[in-house]
Amino acid sequence: MQNINELKELIKLISKLPGLGKRSAQRLILKLINNRDELMKPMVNNLAQVYKNVSRCKDCGTLKSNSIGCNNCQIVEKKFKKICVVEQISDQLAVENSNVATDCYFHVLGGTLSSSNKERKEDLLISSLVKRVTKDQIEEVIIATSATVEGQTTAYYIQEELKNLSVKVSKLGQGISIGSSVEDLEDGTLLSAFKNRTEIKNNSD
Ligand SMILES: [Zn+2]
Repeated sequence: MQNINELKELIKLISKLPGLGKRSAQRLILKLINNRDELMKPMVNNLAQVYKNVSRCKDCGTLKSNSIGCNNCQIVEKKFKKICVVEQISDQLAVENSNVATDCYFHVLGGTLSSSNKERKEDLLISSLVKRVTKDQIEEVIIATSATVEGQTTAYYIQEELKNLSVKVSKLGQGISIGSSVEDLEDGTLLSAFKNRTEIKNNSD
């Protein structure tokens, strides 16, 4: 493409998106330029709206509309007794799309704890999870973190934080290979991991 600064900048930005390298970014931008009114204009407006009106909920970590509120943790008509804890919003999407947990609220941590970095607990909304469990009289917390050291360390801390509450804490069952995150799982694997979830017993008492 010609040496146009605005285009260069846009290619640089779009190339940072997952799955898009420089070439795909160029193709995408050409498509937009060739469809200025049908695609580019509404997209620019829509992007500005999303920037303004959509953010992560401070209580449950998932996406919410700033004007309507969070339909995961604030809308009262839903009455679930389970919370499914995931690391990222992309994990929540994977669980939602596979329909394996239609009777759960979600709690999105936004990352994981590593054993050397325990001070991130507050960033990961773990105390807000404890509050939600109490407030909504939750009966089961399903921890669906990755099969990585960090994911499992995080699961352990969550279980520790919940151990004084009368809530069942479980984690996903067999079938998840070491290193994989929930987002990467096939629907069938996810389904069996949810079905075969096991209660985490607290061995430290
Ligand atoms: Zn929320």
